[in-house]
Amino acid sequence: MTAKIIDGKAFAITVRAKVADHVARLKEEHNLTPGLAVILVGQDPASQVYVRNKHKATLEVGMNSFEYKLPIDVSEQELYALIDKLNEDPQVHGILCQFPVPEHLSETDIVARISPAKDVDGLHVINAGLLATGQRAMVSCTPLGCLMLLRDHYGSLSGKTAVVVGRSNLVGKPLAQLLLRDSCTVTIAHSRTKDIEAVCRAADIVIAAIGRPEMITSDWIKDGATVIDVGINRIAAPEKGAGKMKLVGDVDFASVSPKAGAITPVPGGVGPMTIACLLANTLTACSRANGLPEPVGLSA
Ligand code: NDP
Repeated sequence: MTAKIIDGKAFAITVRAKVADHVARLKEEHNLTPGLAVILVGQDPASQVYVRNKHKATLEVGMNSFEYKLPIDVSEQELYALIDKLNEDPQVHGILCQFPVPEHLSETDIVARISPAKDVDGLHVINAGLLATGQRAMVSCTPLGCLMLLRDHYGSLSGKTAVVVGRSNLVGKPLAQLLLRDSCTVTIAHSRTKDIEAVCRAADIVIAAIGRPEMITSDWIKDGATVIDVGINRIAAPEKGAGKMKLVGDVDFASVSPKAGAITPVPGGVGPMTIACLLANTLTACSRANGLPEPVGLSA
C-alpha cells in the first residue's frame, strides 16, 4: 500500500480562494474590508520573511494589511501603546505579533494585551478557555489547518482514535481540543509518555508536532492510519551538495508512507494551511465584529 498524499498546498489554495470570495462579498454588500495588523520587533531574517509572506497573502485575498516594524529595543510601554491603539481601531480585525521577540519583552504579556476578539493566532488564554469549554473561540492557525485537512479527508471524524504527539499551547493542546470537539478519542503524547510507539500504533490518526526531524518511523504507525506531520525541521542535505540544507517533518516520510493510509508531506502539507487559516481567522474576526454570519467551512 502507498499512502494517499494529503496535498495541503492545493487545499490551502482553495481556502484562500474561498476567503477572497467572502472578502469581495463583504466589500460589495457591507462596504467592509477585513484588516490584519502584523507587528514585527527587530530584524530577525526568518521573521522578516514570515511577515512579508503574510503581508503578501493578506493583500492577495483583498484584505487590508497593516505592518508595524518596531526597533529591537522598543520599550514594553511603546509596544503596548501600539497594541492598545490597534485593539480600538475598527479597521483592524486581526492583530498578531511575530514571535520570537527580544528577551526584554514577554510573549505571554504581549498575547494577553491583544483583544481576544482580534487574537487571530488563537493564543490568548480567553480563546484557549473558550476552545476548551466548547465555545466559539479564535483558534490557532496551524491546528485549524490540520483540522480542515482531516475533515476534508474523512468527512466525519466521529469515533476515530487520534494521538497528538506534542503538547505546546500553539499546536498540540489546541489541536487535541479540536479533535475532541469533533468527537475523536484523543490521546496527547509528549516527551514523558511511556512506550510512545505503542500509543501511536493504536491510533487511526497520528499527528506529529514535536520539532524532531523524522522521529516517527513506520513501526509507530498502524496499517492504513492517517499521519499529519506538523514538524518543520531544517537539516543538512549532503546529497544535494556540501553545505546544502533541506526541510523535513517530524515523520520519516520514506518509511511511513508505504504503511500509512494517508500522509501530509513536508513541505507542502500543513505549512501552507497555516497562512491560509490566518486569512480565514481574520475574515471570521471581521464577520463576528460586525455581527455578520461567519463564513461556512473556514472556522472550527
Ligand atoms: P514545542 O517545542 O513548543 O513543543 C514540542 C512538543 O514535542 C513538546 O510538547 C514536547 O514534549 C514534545 N516532544 C519533544 N521531544 C519529544 C520526544 N522525544 N518524544 C515525544 N514528544 C516530544 O513545538 P511546537 O508545538 O511549537 O512545534 C512543533 C513542530 O511544529 C516544530 O517542528 C515546529 O517548527 C512546527 N510548527 C509548524 C508550523 C506549521 O505551520 N507547519 C507552525 C508551528 C509549529 P514536552 O512538553 O514533554 O517537552
